[in-house]
Amino acid sequence: MKCLICEKTNNVKFLSDYKLEIKEDTKYFKNAKIYRCEECDFAFVDPMPSPEDLNYFYEKVYRSNGRPPYLISENYEDQKKHYLEDKNLSYLIYLTSLIDLKKIKKLYDFGGGDGDLGYALKKKFPNLELFCTEHDSYCEKILHDRGYSNLKDFSNLNQKFDLIITTHSLEHITNINDIFDKFKSILNPGGFIFFEVPNCPKEYWNGRPYDSPHLHFYTKKSFEKLAKIHSLEFINFSSSAYSFDKDHLNQKKSQNDYYQMKSSIFSIGNLKKFLKRILPSKFISLRQDILQLKFIRSEERLNWFVNNTGDNCYIRGVLKKNN
Ligand SMILES: [Zn+2]
Repeated sequence: MKCLICEKTNNVKFLSDYKLEIKEDTKYFKNAKIYRCEECDFAFVDPMPSPEDLNYFYEKVYRSNGRPPYLISENYEDQKKHYLEDKNLSYLIYLTSLIDLKKIKKLYDFGGGDGDLGYALKKKFPNLELFCTEHDSYCEKILHDRGYSNLKDFSNLNQKFDLIITTHSLEHITNINDIFDKFKSILNPGGFIFFEVPNCPKEYWNGRPYDSPHLHFYTKKSFEKLAKIHSLEFINFSSSAYSFDKDHLNQKKSQNDYYQMKSSIFSIGNLKKFLKRILPSKFISLRQDILQLKFIRSEERLNWFVNNTGDNCYIRGVLKKNN
């Protein structure tokens, strides 16, 4: 088995069977196993799902209603407000401290969902031009309304950008070296890459409820290797967000909620779904605003603004292409 970063075989060992979040997804992920390269402290799935299965999964299944993390469909007014949430605000303060955004003209978001980060940046840096590659049919409207040009053919991209952002996408792909090769070719000299992915050292593997749909599992060392192989300079590396324990609890909860909703039509989730259908969307939005007020003084929020605690469940960084 060849490591997908260093491409050597001698340090790769079987780590675990692949654990599915939703057992019906076995039709996309088949009989996958996880292997780990000790040299890169990086793990990956083998065999990878076929490109056809994966494209179908991300276009039609992943963000469909009734599945975690989108158990209950959201109205458009609420979807539009996500860019003001703590997670996105923590990206803003991190990025604008490390990169002079006044000098960035073209921003490209790789797999950015609704494009919250670029949209928020453009509010403060109106000269930014927003581009992305996002195949998810559930994001099409919001990306269009926010002024993104969605360039769907990633492998044939031939424009150049000053900043590539990619948050929680690199763990969903099948070959990181191919993606980094392409990133380098579409980045202007002096351009930057900002990434965030789940943090997967041994604390991640102990007690994790499931792996899917992630296919790559990174650590600090994996990104140091990647930066070296692709001649990129590390401007900053940080770990972020809540603890591994809290992350595992959240994952278990969303998995349980899914199976509960499926097993009983009288579940709380289904009741909420029903109310959403019959109540006016303005009322639902107002209720969301009130719920957010309760959250404003919650200690939970510290998780989004304190980095490098030693047990953060995400890692992020800024890389620079020097020539
Ligand atoms: Zn390796």
